[in-house]
Amino acid sequence: MRIDIKDNQGNPRLTVHVDPANPPTVVKATDGRGPAISLDWDKALDDKGNLRHCPVCGCPEFYLKKNVPQLTVFALIVAAAVIAMVFYGFGLSTPALIVLAVVLGLDLLIYLYAKRYLVCYRCQSEFHDTPLLPTDKAWDANLAERFAPPKDASRGAAEPAPDPPAAPPSS
Ligand SMILES: [Zn+2]
Repeated sequence: MRIDIKDNQGNPRLTVHVDPANPPTVVKATDGRGPAISLDWDKALDDKGNLRHCPVCGCPEFYLKKNVPQLTVFALIVAAAVIAMVFYGFGLSTPALIVLAVVLGLDLLIYLYAKRYLVCYRCQSEFHDTPLLPTDKAWDANLAERFAPPKDASRGAAEPAPDPPAAPPSS
């Protein structure tokens, strides 16, 4: 299992490869830099190795995401559009349509066979190469709101406290 550990802002902190049969309780970057992150595996995996709780933050809910190479798809669509326009410009509308149909088919294939992985609702950590359950669903706005990190807690440390209100001028 590969875990991309994120902070609660969704920024990557650490990527670790974990053996689900013998998962580590503390992980650290391979170069030894950065803080050690403790993982709580108690109840995180069930008997069949399915993820039940996030070992990073303990959240019990995950959503499914697809590993679609965005840039590849985008480049493919742009290239196809250009080729189709050239064909169309020469009055060849049938080849233009064929090019568009082929790209649509490729797009569909990439989407269908893209690798899926789980993302923790609370800490946004990603869990790759882990068994998926039929109950694993795509992102849900209600669940996302329920497990959203508290805004004040994440801000307090980064931003200085606001200035106290100015004292009324003494006359
Ligand atoms: Zn989490």
